[in-house]
Amino acid sequence: MKIIYDPSRCDACKVCIRVCPQKILALLDDAVHVVDPSRCMGCFGCEDECHRHAIRILRTHSHSQEPRVEPSPPIPAPLDVLVVGAGPAGLGAAIACARAGLRVCVCERLPNRRISHHMDGGILFNMPGLAQPSWDQDMLEIPDMGISLPLPAGAQQVDRLSLLGPRGMATDDKFPKGVKPGLMVPKDSFIHGLVDLAEEQGVVFRFDSKVVDLLREGDSFTGVRLDGGESIAARVVVAADGIQGKISSKAGLPNKNGITAYGAVLAYELDIPTEGLHEGLYYLVGDLDLEPDKPAAMAGVDISDRVYVLVALMLPKKFYTAARPLHHYLDLILERDERVHELIGGPPREIRPLMLNGCRVVVRETNRDIARDGLVSIGDAFVSGGELGNMPALSHGYQAGAVVARAIAAGDVSARSLQAVADFITDDLVKITDMNGRMKTLPMRASNEDLELFFKVMQDANYPTMLFGSPRQQGWMFTRLLARHCLDFLRHPRLFKLISGRT
Ligand SMILES: Cc1cc2nc3c(=O)[nH]c(=O)nc-3n(C[C@H](O)[C@H](O)[C@H](O)COP(=O)(O)OP(=O)(O)OC[C@H]3O[C@@H](n4cnc5c(N)ncnc54)[C@H](O)[C@@H]3O)c2cc1C
Ligand code: SF4
Ligand code: SF4
Repeated sequence: MKIIYDPSRCDACKVCIRVCPQKILALLDDAVHVVDPSRCMGCFGCEDECHRHAIRILRTHSHSQEPRVEPSPPIPAPLDVLVVGAGPAGLGAAIACARAGLRVCVCERLPNRRISHHMDGGILFNMPGLAQPSWDQDMLEIPDMGISLPLPAGAQQVDRLSLLGPRGMATDDKFPKGVKPGLMVPKDSFIHGLVDLAEEQGVVFRFDSKVVDLLREGDSFTGVRLDGGESIAARVVVAADGIQGKISSKAGLPNKNGITAYGAVLAYELDIPTEGLHEGLYYLVGDLDLEPDKPAAMAGVDISDRVYVLVALMLPKKFYTAARPLHHYLDLILERDERVHELIGGPPREIRPLMLNGCRVVVRETNRDIARDGLVSIGDAFVSGGELGNMPALSHGYQAGAVVARAIAAGDVSARSLQAVADFITDDLVKITDMNGRMKTLPMRASNEDLELFFKVMQDANYPTMLFGSPRQQGWMFTRLLARHCLDFLRHPRLFKLISGRT
């Protein structure tokens, strides 16, 4: 990461120092100093909260130091659609709009197409009712969206998704016959492929272009303003700015009252050989041994041809301010957690991350009110539980793009006409995202007795089926669970709610 600081703009307010999850910034003689740049995880916390635009982060590609800023082509005028953010949601919307013959520009704060915001978050899961990816040795296809990409190097099928509790508690974790497995793709390459595809369809990309505000005429949104001061007008703004949803918030959505927690996630790619390790995605459930601070935390291990470990800390405060740097908690988990040791073949002799990256997250309630006159908000920016997932975000983007294209063709970009972007947020989708979030985080502070009961029931369930099975497969599973565990559910209704996804 490259941290660019302009002392002439800084008023020494110290906000960046407070928000930095890695605690690598310090104020000396009224100027901000970076104490250990190698620990910067590229979360944009300092940049986003600096009211003087005095600090900027240029995020680098996973293994390189020097970020390359992609040159900006001219923007077609008049512009029909301005998309904020080149994540899966923004790219899905851009592709759909361009295919409908619209002039589309995507503004992305990252410096080039080789970098994605969540570098480690790259498993494509099949969800019933949403566009389904399929793959062979060469190609990754999403037929419902007419998307066909060369299979990114290093892509691997994910056949295992587990919850691991303490003392050997674990879920039945293999994807059973009939439930389509996931595909681990390096997220950077996936995003790169989608950007290339969108460009082929005529979409113009502006990288290193952070949107800082929205242009308004009365109650309508008419474009955006970039951090350099440039204004870009468009008939519709698609705010696909991810889990922070800062631009969506500027439009008055998603509803701030729905925010339940603020957090930060840090992931390491570990420098260890993968031979002999069991591939899969594992979530560590139950209290992590993070004494003496005991922050609310969850952790995961992701084993494919590489090994990632990640920790997420949640705090009910707007500014993430844990007692220690975030990497301290991840180091503790790597040093102490036997589940991790079992997965990676013992405690690492030396914790030497090949790459570290992270982001800040906002956990919010689902919000279906995601359209305004001239603007829609899509992807992670609206979703409950913190994260929507790559395939749902891409699907939402694509469907939203079609809604925007129809509204523009009809000459009516009012909130009423654009509100159909919320049709995507079905009860089933909300149930899946809620359940995914709650499974990983709710038992985090559960007592040992509760956890034992939870795993007792979960051993008869199948976690991949719970999340990604068809309604019929899920129906069978719940019937079986009800038959075997009705007494447990009667005694612990919260357990039933958690496992059935019923709130
Ligand atoms: C650590 C982690 C691991 C994950 N693992 C998985 C996984 O394995 N599988 C899975 O399906 N999902 C995973 N997810 C979730 C998945 O990454 C998200 O749900 C998905 O990326 C959401 O897509 P999006 O387009 O809505 O947002 P994002 O992918 O976050 O994209 C938003 C984009 O907007 C840009 N942006 C933000 N603000 C501005 C601005 N002001 N101006 C210009 N650009 C801006 C950002 O740089 C970013 O590129 C993971 C998430 C995290 C945090
Ligand atoms: S937040 Fe901005 S203005 Fe405040 S100390 Fe940091 S760099 Fe300076
Ligand atoms: S870790 Fe985040 S807040 Fe700290 S310097 Fe890096 S980008 Fe800024």
